Amino acid sequence: MRLFSALVAVAAALNLAACTTKPKEVEPPKLAFAAEQRADLSQPGDIMSFPGPRGSLRGRTIRVGSLSDLVLARGEVVLTFDDGPIPGKTSKILNALDQHGVKATFFTVGQMANAYPHLVREVAARGHTIATHTQNHPNLASMSFDSAVAEIDKGNRSVAAALGPNRSRVAHFFRFPYLASTAALRRHLAMQGVVVIGASVDSKDYFVSTPDQVRARTLSKLEARGSGIVLLHDIHARTAAMLPQLLNDLKKRGFKVVHLVPRSRSVDTMIVAAAE
Ligand SMILES: [Zn+2]
Repeated sequence: MRLFSALVAVAAALNLAACTTKPKEVEPPKLAFAAEQRADLSQPGDIMSFPGPRGSLRGRTIRVGSLSDLVLARGEVVLTFDDGPIPGKTSKILNALDQHGVKATFFTVGQMANAYPHLVREVAARGHTIATHTQNHPNLASMSFDSAVAEIDKGNRSVAAALGPNRSRVAHFFRFPYLASTAALRRHLAMQGVVVIGASVDSKDYFVSTPDQVRARTLSKLEARGSGIVLLHDIHARTAAMLPQLLNDLKKRGFKVVHLVPRSRSVDTMIVAAAE
């Protein structure tokens, strides 16, 4: 707990808990959007549900078993929230998402899951996808391979433990802290069937800025791209503050929020694979 408190204090003081301060000499993340194109809606296995009523912000649900499943059509948006959960902010974000009936993916840090397991359960109970983001949010590209794998596995175990009997709800989705990956780690995760999810629209909500600046930046990037996976953090007050208006703006502009869910594997398989 002392270590956790120190982490939060440092993160708050330095505004550090961002995913994207890319260290030098780290190869860029492999983004899911390299081959972005119109989604093929003729593959029934990939579609679990259809968009909400006309004018609704709610989009379809995509079952993701590999990056090739993650193909967004123009106007489709995936919302992702990293580094939480944390009291006072994660719940506000859940409330804003509920207002529109849309679902997001939460890349949960193991240490936060240990500290606030009830919040992890709340995120899952409200229908969102729980994914993982290491135990302590280190830069995995600057660690030994074995230490990095241990960090990933420990994070998985912590998030699964927080969910208790619902541990199978942990998706086999992973995001590298600071988006700093290595080829060896990506290969290792791929062999376990873990899908590494990048981000194509960085809200930069980890920079000191007003909520409205975060909202405007995110919207403008999304409009320029036409679609994308949006990187946000549920540990920042400015993110929680601007989200209701961002969602209203997205709805007015005709965007649809797409929900990513795992195709089949669960964290139980990931843990077994890690132990072999
Ligand atoms: Zn992060």
